[in-house]
Amino acid sequence: MTSVLWLRRDLRLSDHPALHRAAEEGLVVPLFVRDPALAHAGDARRARLEASLAAFDDSTGGALVVRTGDPVDVVAALAAEAGARTVHVTGEHTPYARRRDRAVAERLERDDVRLRAASSPYAVAPGSVRSGQGTPYRVFTPYARAWRDAGAPPPVPPPSGLRWRRSVTGEELDAALVSRGREHGQVGEEAAVRRWATFRDSALTDYADGRDRPDLDGTSRLSAALRHGEIHPRTLLADLGPDEGPGARAFATELAWREFYADVLWHTPESAWWDLTSGLARMEYAHADDPAVAPHVEAWRTGRTGFPFVDAGMRQLLESGWMHNRLRMVTASFLVKDLHVRWQVGARHFLDHLDDGDLASNNHGWQWVAGTGTDASPYFRIFNPLTQGTRFDPSGDFVRRWVPELRHLPGKTAHEPWRHDDGYAHGYAERIVEHGEERRHALDRYEAVRAGA
Ligand code: FAD
Repeated sequence: MTSVLWLRRDLRLSDHPALHRAAEEGLVVPLFVRDPALAHAGDARRARLEASLAAFDDSTGGALVVRTGDPVDVVAALAAEAGARTVHVTGEHTPYARRRDRAVAERLERDDVRLRAASSPYAVAPGSVRSGQGTPYRVFTPYARAWRDAGAPPPVPPPSGLRWRRSVTGEELDAALVSRGREHGQVGEEAAVRRWATFRDSALTDYADGRDRPDLDGTSRLSAALRHGEIHPRTLLADLGPDEGPGARAFATELAWREFYADVLWHTPESAWWDLTSGLARMEYAHADDPAVAPHVEAWRTGRTGFPFVDAGMRQLLESGWMHNRLRMVTASFLVKDLHVRWQVGARHFLDHLDDGDLASNNHGWQWVAGTGTDASPYFRIFNPLTQGTRFDPSGDFVRRWVPELRHLPGKTAHEPWRHDDGYAHGYAERIVEHGEERRHALDRYEAVRAGA
């Protein structure tokens, strides 16, 4: 008997319940559908996906079938061609994925084929952690407590006797895109497992402090691998085991944030692009395409705001497809509270350039900064780009790494080119705004909303 394994965000062989079930039924056809409805993803993300598909294909010895089209038609056609009675998937939870899977299941039913979902890209499936009253959580800390109590199921062992069916043909992967996707580092399950082992053995102990320092290699850098399912959070949590050290605890908490945001999106799909809370609904924002504002937004996008820490983060994003979490908060705060532009403008830019671009984590991360999201993330918390820089990049190494025009400035002074006679000798941009003034302006806008409330 042949079954289809329709892959989406689960490009791995280990700890893969859907693959396990498929393998139990006999031959497996692994399928990936290029869905035109998702073609708007930025180039960086498409390249990263292509490289991930190539790595998965290699791990199956070339069995992956890639086809383009509406999944409703493509999956049904492939199941018919392969004579499969079951299509196995890992459950997905974004608003679009839920609609798509319902439509695919209905279409398959007409041919008497079953769409069978197992597990999810999360340790605990979105939507399943609820308060004692059965309501969803809107605040992280109680969610995280309940999430821990729910406990992740143990990882699933690799399927024994796995056999791929190779007679089904598909499209070639785009070699140019694959090599572009590999430019930011190694891709695929094996690389993710190696990266995890290195991080666990070298940086996990100090993670609670190290995670805030962009000048150090203090975080796992697994976000893109988690995004594409090259490694599962269940595997990571099981590997942490009973380690109750501060590093392991902090790491599990960060994974819980990822799960929390997916849960919030599951319960409130509209929060992907709309304010989750209504408190700032009347807030006045600048229009990103207003001729007076657009050059500032462009300076933000390209890392030329004249604020070294902000610019280093934005250039790290463009050049490496990843940005350190501290910088994601600082650069997001700069767009929303120094340039007064809506969070959605920045969220779109991040999604276009992040290898780990994820609707739930990204857009709720932006809402957290903008003060419209979950938790008590007050709008009046405005990051000061200079003090954030000197605190979290005390040596100035991070700034010098990403902003070559400042490499001649020693130590933490790289954060303040305006204090040096030769600070602008190599063409670094002048500050586009005065932070203190914009901060007051942001607080005035906030007070105006509160006064009108
Ligand atoms: P580590 O510190 O090693 O953390 C381990 C894992 O925990 C991460 O890989 C990630 O899956 C999860 N995690 C860590 N911090 C968070 C967090 N604050 N929220 C949710 N999950 C977290 N993360 C994404 O995966 N995709 C995004 O598109 C994304 N956009 C963001 C946008 C903004 C404005 C902000 C403030 C945060 C965003 N994050 C996003 C969260 C976080 O910045 C990244 O997950 C983290 O920087 C990835 O690096 P890492 O793998 O080394 O993280």
